[in-house]
Amino acid sequence: MNVAQWLASSARLHPQAPALLTGTTVQADYKTFAHRAAAIGAGLVRDYGIQPSDRVALFMSNATQYLECLYAVWWIGAVVIPINAKLHGREAAWICDNAGARLAFVDDDSRGALVQVEEDLPTGMQMLSIDSATFHELQHGEPVSAVPLSREDNDLAWLFYTSGTTGRPKGVMLSHGNLVAMSLCYLADVDQVHQRDAILYAAPISHGAGLYNFIHIRMAARHVVPESQGFEPDEVLDLGGALGDVAMFAAPTMVRRLVDAAKKRGETGEGLRTIVYGGGPMYLADIRDAIATMGQRFVQIYGQGESPMTITSLPRAFHADTEHPRYLERLASVGPAQSVMSVRITGADGKPLSIGETGEVEAKGPAVMLGYWNNDKANAETLKDGWLRTGDVGRLDEDGFLTLSDRSKDVIISGGTNIYPREVEEALLTHPGVREVSAIGVPEPDWGEVVVACVVLEPGASADDAALDAHCLANIARFKRPKRYVYLDALPKNNYGKVLKTELREMMRASAPAGAG
Ligand code: AMP
Repeated sequence: MNVAQWLASSARLHPQAPALLTGTTVQADYKTFAHRAAAIGAGLVRDYGIQPSDRVALFMSNATQYLECLYAVWWIGAVVIPINAKLHGREAAWICDNAGARLAFVDDDSRGALVQVEEDLPTGMQMLSIDSATFHELQHGEPVSAVPLSREDNDLAWLFYTSGTTGRPKGVMLSHGNLVAMSLCYLADVDQVHQRDAILYAAPISHGAGLYNFIHIRMAARHVVPESQGFEPDEVLDLGGALGDVAMFAAPTMVRRLVDAAKKRGETGEGLRTIVYGGGPMYLADIRDAIATMGQRFVQIYGQGESPMTITSLPRAFHADTEHPRYLERLASVGPAQSVMSVRITGADGKPLSIGETGEVEAKGPAVMLGYWNNDKANAETLKDGWLRTGDVGRLDEDGFLTLSDRSKDVIISGGTNIYPREVEEALLTHPGVREVSAIGVPEPDWGEVVVACVVLEPGASADDAALDAHCLANIARFKRPKRYVYLDALPKNNYGKVLKTELREMMRASAPAGAG
């Protein structure tokens, strides 16, 4: 099937249901939304020569028109390439070129960024700004009548460029079938969805947050873009109160900021029914603080572009089951496999390991990508007999709960022993003076690598290596203790809020030798 059928169906069944909102202002009901998508789709074919399977980029900030453009492209059987609006024009141009985009939807800001790097864009790529009169005319034009039925479920729908914390991003090929499998898992493993609900896009629609649009379209729920077009904790808390029944995706760093704002306001986040977090490690200290402040609003997912939002999940019930003897262990895990997925752990030789053993996480199932766009080498390295090698390290317990340690490339090998930075970070984060921390391995002649902790202190706290060292000694094995503490104002992060360990390692290499402190 084609995911645009879900929009067509909701427009038929619930034409008057509010569909697109900016803040609390309704911009379109389902009938209007579907009409606009079909009309823009017709314009893409008629005025821009876009054919089924052609690639159309979206390089713009969150806006309700974002969803109209996505569905316009699917309505005519073409493929979207959503690109994070915060990328540099040159990075966006590289993606457009790699994917062979024929057209890019832009807004007036992002158009400027692309015009400056015109020589890097694929030959003949056209641009259409959602702020232009042309776009407004298209929205109200004559629609294409019906969504084309896909030839197969594995027709390409979304080229999802990885966030590229190392090297060039890769184009993950997601099919309509992948997106449908992911969306149905949401109902089974993440949360229920009703027509009265509102999905709030406080994180880029080009990434995880945007992937939750499908099931909310299927259920004819509300789609809300904050007026700030981004993440402002106070605005999110206000919108929760004003809209009610809000669900949203938030990276762990966003949860942290939301919890701080809720504390400051003396509120619990009323109206924010579900906050789905994932995309990076959620430390135990942080999720416990979040639950203590905001209550049971949280669901965790673990996925990656290659199996979007869909490898494991830790539903609300496990966040609430405080009586369970292994409650804290479970809370520190990413939960069991989602309904359509299988998860296993493999050793260095690629063979499956037993329960409790730590190795690479592999996932298999209908959410796993078709492969990388034009990248046979990466496909051969990543997909083996249908199993996706995630590059994450973790272990399964006897109930199937997966606990992640780290990305395999971030594991520190010191004196021949593996040290998982996550354990060191979890320990240091329980120190009251530590706000954020990232542990990395830095080369050192005697040990191979030693642990260096890059620490951001809480406001008012002072640097005190001896206190942190004593805290580590009290909580983790001696050999895992950082050999050096470095105090930073902030940790380097990419546009999705992921800590850039590669950058930290480079910074440390350029500074004083490890072991000096
Ligand atoms: P991306 O493809 O950019 O979405 O990044 C996916 C990676 O983020 C995964 O391979 C994990 O390393 C990390 N990740 C995603 N979800 C979680 C989670 N719930 N806990 C810890 N790490 C996560």
